[in-house]
Amino acid sequence: MPRTIHVIGAGLAGLAAAIQLTEAGETVAIHEAAGQAGGRCRSYHDPALDMEIDNGNHLLLSANHAALGFLRVVGADDKLVGPPHADFPFVDLKTDERWTLKINDGRIPWWIFDKAARVPGTRAGDYLALARLLWPGRDASVGDVIACKGVLYDRLVGPLLLAALNTAPPEGTAALAAAVLRETVAAGGQACRPLVARDGLGPTFIAPALDYLSKHGVTIGFGRRLRALTIAAGRAVALDFGDATVRLGADDRVILAVPPVVASALLPEISAPSEFRAIVNAHFRVAPPPGTPPIVGVINGITEWIFAFSDRLSVTISGADRLVDTPREALAKTIWSEVAAVVRMGDAEAPPRWQIVRERRATFAALPSEERKRPGAETSWRNLWLAGDWTATGLPATIEGAIRSGNRAAALAAR
Ligand SMILES: Cc1cc2nc3c(=O)[nH]c(=O)nc-3n(C[C@H](O)[C@H](O)[C@H](O)COP(=O)(O)OP(=O)(O)OC[C@H]3O[C@@H](n4cnc5c(N)ncnc54)[C@H](O)[C@@H]3O)c2cc1C
Repeated sequence: MPRTIHVIGAGLAGLAAAIQLTEAGETVAIHEAAGQAGGRCRSYHDPALDMEIDNGNHLLLSANHAALGFLRVVGADDKLVGPPHADFPFVDLKTDERWTLKINDGRIPWWIFDKAARVPGTRAGDYLALARLLWPGRDASVGDVIACKGVLYDRLVGPLLLAALNTAPPEGTAALAAAVLRETVAAGGQACRPLVARDGLGPTFIAPALDYLSKHGVTIGFGRRLRALTIAAGRAVALDFGDATVRLGADDRVILAVPPVVASALLPEISAPSEFRAIVNAHFRVAPPPGTPPIVGVINGITEWIFAFSDRLSVTISGADRLVDTPREALAKTIWSEVAAVVRMGDAEAPPRWQIVRERRATFAALPSEERKRPGAETSWRNLWLAGDWTATGLPATIEGAIRSGNRAAALAAR
C-alpha cells in the first residue's frame, strides 16, 4: 500500500500542502472540521446583505510569489487582479486632501524624490531615515527602531505596517515589518502592485483548489474535527475524529494545519502564539460610483482601507480589538459616513444595507514576545509536521505566509 499523508485543516496552509503533495505524486487525505474549506480566507452568503461576500477583505501584493504559484497550479492566476503599477490612492478625512502614492517599477526608489509620487508634506530624507527598519534586531519592536510619529508615519508607514502586522506598529515585531518591506516596497513597484480577488476569495482561491484536488482524486472529509492525536514511540499512530479513528500505517504521515489554539490543545508540548488581534470589516451593499479605485487608503478615520467591488464597498480596520464591543449599528453609521465622504456618494447619515463582520482572532499578535513562540514546521515526532500562518514563516499572518508554510511542510513530509 502506498503511504498516505493526512492533512488536518483545509485552510490555505492545508490546501497548499495537499496541492504540493499531490503534485509530487503522494496519496493525500484532507480532514476539515468545518463544512467548507478556506478557514479564515473564505466567501459565504451573507443573509443581511443577501449576497456572497468574503469573511474579510484580503489584499495581496505582486511579490507574494507563493500565493501566485498556488493560483497558477490550480489554474486561477487570472482571478487575482490589480493595476499595472503600484499606485495607491489615499484620502485624508481631516483635511480632505487626496493623493496617489506612486511607487516606480524598478528597485531604485525615484518616487521618494518626486513630489507628485510621494506622500504630500514629506521629504526624501524622511524615507531614507526608514532604511534602518530594513535590518532590525531580532527582538526589536518597530517603535524601538523608528520614531512612530510625523507626517510620513501618519500617512504611510503607520497604515502600511498596521495592515501588514495587524498589530499597532509601535509594539509590532520589527523583523516582520522588515521582511514585508524588503520583499515589497524596497524591491520596487513591480513587487508591490496591489492584488485583490475581484470575484471573491472562495471563487479565486478555494473553489479552484478543491477542483484541482478532486480532479487528482484527493478526498476531503468535511465535518471531521480532529479530537486527539495518539503518539507512541516518537510518532503519531492514530487520528481520533470522535466518531471514527484512523490508524496510521508505518509510513503514513501527518501535516497539522490548524490554528494555533487548536494545535496547542492537540499537542500541548509545542510552542505556539497565544495572543491575537481582531479585524473588523464593514460591508455596504451599494455599487460604487464609476472610477472608484479598487482600494483607497483612509487617513484620520476609523476606516483604514476601502475596497470597491462591483456590487459593494467594503472597509477593513486592522488591530481592531478596541471596536469588538462597539454596538454594530453605531459602527456601521460611523464607517458609512466616512466611506460616503471618501467616494463622494450617498447620504452620509443613512448607510445602505450593511453588515459588520468581526473576526476576534483574525491573526496572532505580531509582537516580539509572540514571534519567539512560533514553531518551525518540524516537530519532535518523526511523521508529524506543522503548517499555518502562525508557524515560523518569517512573515506576518498572511495568505503568503500560510501558503509558504504549507509548501514547506509538504516538502518535508514528502522526503
Ligand atoms: C478578516 C481577515 C482579514 C485578513 N486580511 C488579510 C489580507 O489582507 N492579506 C493577507 O495576506 N492575509 C489576510 N488575512 C490572513 C489570512 O486570512 C490568513 O493568514 C490565512 O487565511 C491563514 O490560513 P491558515 O491555513 O494558516 O489558517 P486557517 O485559515 O485558520 O485554517 C485552519 C483550518 O483548520 C480547520 N480546523 C480547525 N480545527 C480543526 C480540527 N480540530 N480538525 C480539523 N480541522 C480543523 C479550520 O476549520 C480551518 O479550515 C486576514 C484574515 C482575516 C481573518
